[in-house]
Amino acid sequence: MINKHMQPIIILGIDGLDPCLVKKFVETGIMPRLRKYVKRCFFAKMLSTIPPLTIPAWASLFTGLDQSQLQAYDMFRVNKHFNIKFLTNDIWRGEYLWDILSLYGIKMGVLFFPFLYNPYPINGFMITDPVLGKIKTYPPNLHLHLSCLTEFTVLHNILPPLMIHSSKKNLRCKMKLLNELEHKSDGWQVLFLQDGLSDISMHQGNLKDIIEAYSLIDELIGNAFEICESNNWYLLIVSDHGLQRAKRVFSIGTYFVVKGLTKLREISPLTKLSLVLYQFLLSELAKVDHKLSRILINLIKHLKFKSSRGSKKSTIQFYDISSTIIPYFSVGSNFANLWIGKILSHDRFLHDLSNLPIMEKIRGKAYCHNDGAKDGMYLTPLTLEFREDIQPEYLPLPKIMFRTNGFMHRKYATFIAYGPSIKGGLKFDYSISIIDFLPTLLAMLHVPIPDDRHGRIITEMFKSQDVIKIQYIPKPRISVIMKLKGLKKALSHRQDIQ
Ligand SMILES: [Zn+2]
Repeated sequence: MINKHMQPIIILGIDGLDPCLVKKFVETGIMPRLRKYVKRCFFAKMLSTIPPLTIPAWASLFTGLDQSQLQAYDMFRVNKHFNIKFLTNDIWRGEYLWDILSLYGIKMGVLFFPFLYNPYPINGFMITDPVLGKIKTYPPNLHLHLSCLTEFTVLHNILPPLMIHSSKKNLRCKMKLLNELEHKSDGWQVLFLQDGLSDISMHQGNLKDIIEAYSLIDELIGNAFEICESNNWYLLIVSDHGLQRAKRVFSIGTYFVVKGLTKLREISPLTKLSLVLYQFLLSELAKVDHKLSRILINLIKHLKFKSSRGSKKSTIQFYDISSTIIPYFSVGSNFANLWIGKILSHDRFLHDLSNLPIMEKIRGKAYCHNDGAKDGMYLTPLTLEFREDIQPEYLPLPKIMFRTNGFMHRKYATFIAYGPSIKGGLKFDYSISIIDFLPTLLAMLHVPIPDDRHGRIITEMFKSQDVIKIQYIPKPRISVIMKLKGLKKALSHRQDIQ
């Protein structure tokens, strides 16, 4: 029944890999390796979650759950006492592709899945992202089998300018790891490997860094293509969202503050000072003067240490989900300083929004999604989406609306498929959604799809429909099987002890 003879599938997950930029870089020769294969690939734009943010988007890709099912719109969740909790991908444990495949005896390797802090037993192996801290693995002794695991640089607590440098080093390690795993394909049938260099470099907005990042990613992609071509395997390349240069930014976070719907949590003077220094660090002057930037980095680190010691009580709430310390300067972290003042309903937000004077300037260019959020607990307004040249930003910033040169997340992600039964051709329309990925993959492996996953199978990417098998299984039945398997494991463990 299950297609255990299906050729191995490698999935490269590239954070922020933008489909329009990829198309441009393929055409202009910045991505020559992808260019060599692209005509034989199915290459499409894929609609991300709204807002297109990293955690909900990766969760949606690999659980197949839509945004209202995930009930996650930003990097944070708000509980019923209006406390903000940091969002980690651990909370969807049991719903992911590897959980489903484990039930059906298919082995999967999960490498560096974003914001999954704790590796756990699956049919296969799991490695956490060095962005989060020291690498953790399942099984714990994985480094004995994969020698290059010890070569990675831990990225948490590193400031962005240095992060690019260390991320490049890590990307090279990932290429080595991929080559090592090619020869260990008895240990996996599906392999997922993630990298975030494109996202990091685009957020900083320096074109030279972005081009370098995309050429390095092209090397990784080229490596994976060669492996798949010579072994007759499948390669899928996916991203969680794209990024684009935005001309104008509308800050939803600031809008909340101005309207009195949220209030800023008190920030210590030391933290304030480190934020000012941090802005300076990102300035052009600090970029050319390396000595200056090093002094700034040391100062900021020192201030961070001081202020975190001084305000332990007020920050502890953001640290309790996992023992790992969350990097202070991560994207979205300023949002942690916001407390929700009152329940905000979708209608109320629309009403307030229409009364905001600044909206006169962008009228006709913004609209809200009615996303089916059931209560006011989550930030329904974050489903606000803008057209044309305006990008929403979720952090509280000095102004509600301002001009910028930086890159902001955009709603289109990348989807590329290659392999023995994949049709070639660019299908650059908007017919693919982020929730279509999981059911399509399960259909390729002839694994039943839980019936609460509403995505469609991307049938048009296959040369013949014989490759796929579409069958659904009631979600409650999956839960029962999962419980039984868990019980079985617990029982066999008890026998071991006795
Ligand atoms: Zn991302």
